[in-house]
Amino acid sequence: MKWSDPASLEHEREKMLENQLISRGIKDQRVLNALRKIPRHLFVEEALHHQAYGDHPLPIGEKQTISQPYIVALMTEALELKGSEKVLEIGTGSGYQTAILAELADMVYSIERIPPLVYKARKTLDELGYFNINIRIGDGTKGWEEESPFDAIIVTAASPEVPRPLQEQLIVGGLMVVPVGGRYSQDLIKVERTEKGFVQQNLGGCRFVSLIGQHGWQE
Ligand code: SAM
Repeated sequence: MKWSDPASLEHEREKMLENQLISRGIKDQRVLNALRKIPRHLFVEEALHHQAYGDHPLPIGEKQTISQPYIVALMTEALELKGSEKVLEIGTGSGYQTAILAELADMVYSIERIPPLVYKARKTLDELGYFNINIRIGDGTKGWEEESPFDAIIVTAASPEVPRPLQEQLIVGGLMVVPVGGRYSQDLIKVERTEKGFVQQNLGGCRFVSLIGQHGWQE
């Protein structure tokens, strides 16, 4: 497989869509097209390029990971993005999920607590020409109050409970997806803010690195 050959890369992504996403029930064509388009291998180091389209997470440095493609697709689909939304992401990591959101929404705000990951993600996203993304270094469990409310919020690290400030920064009618549970296994929770309150739906089991911050886990 030649990583410089666009046809081989397209083939790898097409296989990923067929074998990992469509076969497991991902239906939103906009989500599928975003995963079809974005060069996932550019978000991991060169030595891991050959594994970038595999059915698993990969290390991105700083003891963090880029999530499995299926989990990225499942969480993104749960946000039901149509194109006009303002989205908040907690846990920029490599910036891959951020790029997917930037393809599907109007504006993306992303918070990451580890500075070297932010610098690397920003560089990758700039090189790919994404200019509707604002990234900030900090504790994402507190949200991004000045820019709230958000139409959608995605948390890509595991929390002991749904962080309260994030719920409060969701617009009425907005959707949030967040892994909630213990340190080593969680359930993916979809939260809808309605006129009457918050409605939760369990999308199934998952395993994420920890959300570390004031409204998440302690270090
Ligand atoms: N979505 C990322 C991607 O596509 O590469 C993967 C995210 S990784 C599974 C989780 C990220 O959440 C890590 O980069 C970690 O440093 C970050 N994180 C953990 N706690 C955080 C917090 N309180 N605020 C912001 N980022 C946090």
